[in-house]
Amino acid sequence: MKRTITHLADGRELIYFDRRDDADRSAIDRRVLDPRPVASELRYDPLTEEWIAMAGHRQTRTFQPTGSANECPLCPSSDTRSSEIPAHDYDVVVFENRFPSFSGNFGTYMDVGGLSEVRPGVGRCEVVCFTSEHSSSFSRLSNGQVELVMEAWADRTAELSGIEGVEQVFCFENRGEEIGITLAHPHGQIYAYPYVTPRTKLQLAAARRYSMGNLFADVLAAERAAGTRVVAANELWTAFVPAAARWPYEVHIYPHRQVPDLAALTEEERSAFAPLYTAVLRAFDDLFGVVMPYISAWHQAPVRQDRELGYLHLELFSIRRAPGKLKYLAGSESAMGAFVNDVLPEEAARMLRSRVDHY
Ligand SMILES: [Zn+2]
Repeated sequence: MKRTITHLADGRELIYFDRRDDADRSAIDRRVLDPRPVASELRYDPLTEEWIAMAGHRQTRTFQPTGSANECPLCPSSDTRSSEIPAHDYDVVVFENRFPSFSGNFGTYMDVGGLSEVRPGVGRCEVVCFTSEHSSSFSRLSNGQVELVMEAWADRTAELSGIEGVEQVFCFENRGEEIGITLAHPHGQIYAYPYVTPRTKLQLAAARRYSMGNLFADVLAAERAAGTRVVAANELWTAFVPAAARWPYEVHIYPHRQVPDLAALTEEERSAFAPLYTAVLRAFDDLFGVVMPYISAWHQAPVRQDRELGYLHLELFSIRRAPGKLKYLAGSESAMGAFVNDVLPEEAARMLRSRVDHY
């Protein structure tokens, strides 16, 4: 794998991850771009003990430019058109988000009164292009391509973990218009947060209270033993629907070995993940014969704490519960955080498992 760092016209970093050692990465970004916006401000909610990022500048971000590859900012540049990627082709590319929720570019922050504390949204937001093919999808990537994406995730996790003030690195993919995704090109994002996220805090607090061993490892072992919710497995990974799934179709994928983050996976583990994950994604799409909107979220241990307690795993879920029906976060979920799931996890697992078997 060859890694080449370059910079875009406004100073943002762009990194090519290439399979070939001789890829030409000398292309220059010739666009004239506005100066980069300042970082968001973080405000603390004393009632929930959560930080909320106020990213006003994001209102101006690119919105659904079009489905056409001609306008796509994530396709490679051509002789007549300049995108975010200066080269005429690429394997995997990562660059700093033009409208980041977190960055190293601070403004000044005022006392806002109330009981809220305010601080700058230190951190970094990056975009990961999974392939140069505009109309592809993660589920259709070759195993080698998935492995290259995983190398890029591992590289970015290690790199962003080293930024002063960053507490957690989150690699994820939002897919589908129903999820609010603004660009059709297969891509994901990486957020380097200046705090440990609420969901991770909850999971780690539960793991800390659990005295029988590692909670995540025991959840995995129990699901493997029960078997009724296992969707797919190989020697190094297991995919299962959690017993108390919140979403109609939700699959968690765990490595069999406890590691804190993507950077700690071995080459063998990355290779074993690729075919399993794409088979699960294809099973998702096969459920109703329509593109499944989904969120795919890598849960990694925080950067500076609980490295022994955390357990890398992927949480994948869709908001589609039937061909024409989406699960919306209504009153109970949005206001109270109390989920009601319309699909039994065992039934969801059975449906997904039968489709994974096709591959
Ligand atoms: Zn594109």
